[in-house]
Amino acid sequence: MIETIKDPYLKPAEEILEGLKSSTEGLTDAEASLRLAKFGKNSLPDPAKKSLLKLIIKQFNHLMVYILLIAAGISYATAHYIDVYVILGIILINAIIGFVQEYKAEGALAALKGLLVPKCKVIRNGNLISINSEELVPGDIIALEEGDIVPADARIIYEKNARTAEASLTGESVPVQKSEKQHLEACGFSDQKNMVWKSTFVASGSIRAVVTSTGLGTQIGQIASSLKSILPKKTNFQNKTDKLALQMAYLAIGSALILFVVGYFVLEVETSELLLISIAALVSAIPEGLPAVLSIVLAVGSYRMSQKNAIIREMTATESLGSVSTIITDKTGTLTQNTMTIKKIWGLGKSDIEVSGEGWDSTGEFIGEKEDIAGANALLEIAAHCHQSSIQIKESDQINIIGDPTEAAFLVLANKAGKKRTLKIIEDIAFSSELKFRSTLVRKDQDELRFYIGAPEPILERCHFFLNNQGESQELTEHDKREIHSKIQAWSEDSLRVLALARKKGINLEKDEYLEFVGIAGMMDPPRPEVIPAVASCHQAGIRVIMATGDHASTALSIAQKVGIAKAGRTLVYTDSELQAMSEEEFKVAVQNADVFSRLTPLMKLKIAKALQAEGELVAMTGDGVNDAPALKQADIGIAMGIMGTDVAKDASLMVLADDNFSTIVHAIEQGRIVFNNARRTSFFLITTNFAEILTLITSISFGLPLPLTATQILWINIVTDGFCDKALAAEKGKGRELTSPPISPKENIINRNIIPFLLINALIMTGLAIFAFKSYLPLGIEKARTMVFIVIAFSQLFNVFNMRNLDQSIFKIGLFSNKWVNYALILSVIIQVLIIEVPVFAALFNFKAVNPIEFLTWIALSSLVLWAGELYKYFKNYKTK
Ligand code: ADP
Ligand code: MG
Repeated sequence: MIETIKDPYLKPAEEILEGLKSSTEGLTDAEASLRLAKFGKNSLPDPAKKSLLKLIIKQFNHLMVYILLIAAGISYATAHYIDVYVILGIILINAIIGFVQEYKAEGALAALKGLLVPKCKVIRNGNLISINSEELVPGDIIALEEGDIVPADARIIYEKNARTAEASLTGESVPVQKSEKQHLEACGFSDQKNMVWKSTFVASGSIRAVVTSTGLGTQIGQIASSLKSILPKKTNFQNKTDKLALQMAYLAIGSALILFVVGYFVLEVETSELLLISIAALVSAIPEGLPAVLSIVLAVGSYRMSQKNAIIREMTATESLGSVSTIITDKTGTLTQNTMTIKKIWGLGKSDIEVSGEGWDSTGEFIGEKEDIAGANALLEIAAHCHQSSIQIKESDQINIIGDPTEAAFLVLANKAGKKRTLKIIEDIAFSSELKFRSTLVRKDQDELRFYIGAPEPILERCHFFLNNQGESQELTEHDKREIHSKIQAWSEDSLRVLALARKKGINLEKDEYLEFVGIAGMMDPPRPEVIPAVASCHQAGIRVIMATGDHASTALSIAQKVGIAKAGRTLVYTDSELQAMSEEEFKVAVQNADVFSRLTPLMKLKIAKALQAEGELVAMTGDGVNDAPALKQADIGIAMGIMGTDVAKDASLMVLADDNFSTIVHAIEQGRIVFNNARRTSFFLITTNFAEILTLITSISFGLPLPLTATQILWINIVTDGFCDKALAAEKGKGRELTSPPISPKENIINRNIIPFLLINALIMTGLAIFAFKSYLPLGIEKARTMVFIVIAFSQLFNVFNMRNLDQSIFKIGLFSNKWVNYALILSVIIQVLIIEVPVFAALFNFKAVNPIEFLTWIALSSLVLWAGELYKYFKNYKTK
């Protein structure tokens, strides 16, 4: 059996291959599975994934549980054993509900993340295949290209122009040049040029390397195991819910203390009774069901988002989405369809050639001057060779492309002319968003030729010659350049995305200079129709939309106007170089006003995001390239493209768009606002009970009356009575009006000043009714009186669920039956409440006395007062704001 090799950078590559019993043909499957068993999976412990034990402990690690345990302790000391069992039982049941929910949520998250399992290219049995990075073993030969994450630590055996970005490991922000050469002296890992490290990524070029260590054996693995103790930062939502829990804990302990002091010193109640009162106060102020229901709210939200193609990588991000105030979006593929069709081609000194045909269909005509079409041969040759894409025709005659749509458009163009790939390809360098072009080296008649396709500016900058009508190389004058630029300008204003084609002859191939301009191609990329209403709803919702593109300013502006990002007549476009030339003050003003940023580099994206955040905006930003990752991390909500995006971009993002579509972002924001509303509505619902109970308790004790509810009865209301309806409220759908109001401030608390009047109205009515019932029935015995208090509070709460379905609008307006879960939950809850009062075995357990049907119905009717008061409150509130 093989062992890992020490200091592989000090040895020649062949020695490493030998030592690891591998070769350039890779390992066999059988050998790989043996090694997988020996070395284990190539993965690091996922910090986001909680262990089962931790998840269980977490359910008990709540302020609430501590307070309940105090209550149980006091019950035990006063020999109220039933209370002890009930409280412990409730802690346990609550923990189970919480556990199941979180476990399910984790599972759902894991499943979503499963869609994003990192893959890598590896040679096994002599073939290049793609496997899950987890299955990589020492000795595997991996193939890496620009944009790939390095899946394990590996020794380079071959590389071409390879640079890797190692910031995640070494903090070095500039990409590092790599080489396969053996080091002769010992050095630290950050200086080892012939090694690539797990979790760094390839910034350019291509690499073949042999894996030397995997999983925890890698450099990052060693760091990870030493950093295990660092806890992840709390999100905005966690801070909000922690604050809420703390407020309720203060309320619980505060009221228990007040009651104790008042009871002991003023009313001189006996100590044993006093302890019972304290238990009741503690359990009544704690919303025991809150943590479980909030995790359901988030789970429902992220599930609904995933149904609409938005994959959430961190649950609590669903809530932050509701607060997004600025979206910075890509153009190609996000706002547009990314079905590129080349409509026109042109070469200097010739006239336009129009190309017919639509989409990926390879049939089309060339319309123009005969000799120009014949002279387009060189351009078509570049089109046929300078791309990495292919076309697939399915049985249903549906045409699919593999690879980048921009590149496939050139393949389709070449096909239309019947131009095939006949030259031998020596090297292909993929598109880089930094350079904005791609190139392919081919051999033609003993000569080496390099073909270039890319954005016009960077290509033209490098052109010193052009291909003239006679097919000869001729010097490119300033006058010629101006002519080319005005052609590009004219096409761009026509919404055509313009790319330039060039080539270079001879052996001096190292320098990307002295290119020969061959021509330009104008492609059509129509806007997605659904984006237009999506942009309009953003504007209505007070969300600013900015386009950030690598494309030409005029094309960008013309698309921006078509989808409504730039209003007609508004032409606020800034290019990267204009932004760079600005003073800090000018930059701030530009960022506040612009509709479109064009020719943007990823670094500028980052700067724009920071400037907007400094102005207090909550920024959502899209990205797909490797270089976008820092900007995606910086944004409050980084959004990666699911189809066109690189792994690095996905890893840096909180959300991934499965369909790369802008309108998906808008759906997610709408859902985010619903999530916030549902968090508020469920918390509000539960807390109303707590307020009513604590007020009833304080009122009756102050009047010298006995305890109006026992601890077990209170717990029953908090957990069981509320426990079905709150879950149903968590599933409340949007009212279709979420996008009509401005974004929710990120600082807005779940319970804020605006809803306190409503909370007090509900709680005071419930208290008033409860005290009235208590006093009226007290002469018939304490047990009967408590039963009536129980009925009043339980049924008021059941009516209150209608109030909570919409905090502003009448329930009769939104439809009594529009959330079927609420109605099922209500029916179930009513049946359960009636059963525990009327069935003697249960009633005995809770010390309830039977109530006759007429009495029961009368008090239920009285309990509906909460609903009528709620309706009146909403009516006046809406009246006032009209
Ligand atoms: P966009 O905002 O249009 O997506 P990108 O930053 O992706 O812009 O690309 C910038 C420019 O680079 C494009 O406008 C186009 O001219 C060129 N370009 C993009 N993709 C490719 C490719 N695969 N091959 C050649 N050139 C490309
Ligand atoms: Mg793009």
